[in-house]
Amino acid sequence: MKVFQTPDRGFCFGVKRSVDVALETVKKAKEPVYTYGPIIHNPQVVKQLAEQGITPIESLDGIKPGKLILRSHGAPSSVIEKANKLKFSVVDAVCPFVKRTQNYAKKLYKEGYKVIIVGEEEHPEIKGILGHAGIEAQVINHMSSLKKISDFKKLGIVAQTTLPVQRFVKVVSKLLPMAEEILVYNTICKNVILRQYHTMKLAKSIELMIVIGGKNSANTRRLAELARQEGCETYHIETHEELEAGWFKNKLKVGVTSGASTPNWIIKEVVEKIKNGGKNEKR
Ligand code: SF4
Repeated sequence: MKVFQTPDRGFCFGVKRSVDVALETVKKAKEPVYTYGPIIHNPQVVKQLAEQGITPIESLDGIKPGKLILRSHGAPSSVIEKANKLKFSVVDAVCPFVKRTQNYAKKLYKEGYKVIIVGEEEHPEIKGILGHAGIEAQVINHMSSLKKISDFKKLGIVAQTTLPVQRFVKVVSKLLPMAEEILVYNTICKNVILRQYHTMKLAKSIELMIVIGGKNSANTRRLAELARQEGCETYHIETHEELEAGWFKNKLKVGVTSGASTPNWIIKEVVEKIKNGGKNEKR
């Protein structure tokens, strides 16, 4: 059995930067260190960081002030204002590409556009962008939500950084007849586009795809979705412990891809076990 890996594996630039900022902060801090929500969507990395004193919190209420790290996905401006008021010291570890989307949303709002964010309403990145996009801003994920929009003179559109390009194109083209003026910023992250492209390409030439990354990671779930769309048998796992030997029976070509918040050490463990037919012990 041969194992093929996509070229863009491991942490993306934004995730690596956030984790580095968190580690640097906890090294120097004398006060408690928190992240607002998990710093990245990978439970194994979040657990490792917690062991080093970096605690994820979901609310500031009743928490002893300390350093508050803003995670790679960002945070709404209301959270930042509240943190400052409660005397937390805010540390910015937001990915610059997520911040760029927030800035575009803010700019569109200030220039009188109704802001449309194409992405998942419940995703923390979207909540962060919404907090910068004005009260009329709207999130659209599926085409069915489109009918709620009507008669706006100026629409300004941005995308969740992990959105599949095809979905963005579809939504934008549906919105075209609904306003006199439309300004679109393509805020999909290039790293995500490349990962999706390489995953789809690999999926066409193999019999089985293993996608590694947090079950809560939107970009990892999309990679699995895309591999399945290519007709490839696909499993989304977080660690090597989930691999089952039966998946690899009679398979000659197996592919491995990973989300942007999956560390290299997890990928290495998975690849080693796949090479061993999905079994723990060496042959
Ligand atoms: S996938 Fe792109 S936008 Fe998201 S954290 Fe990584 S570099 Fe930033």
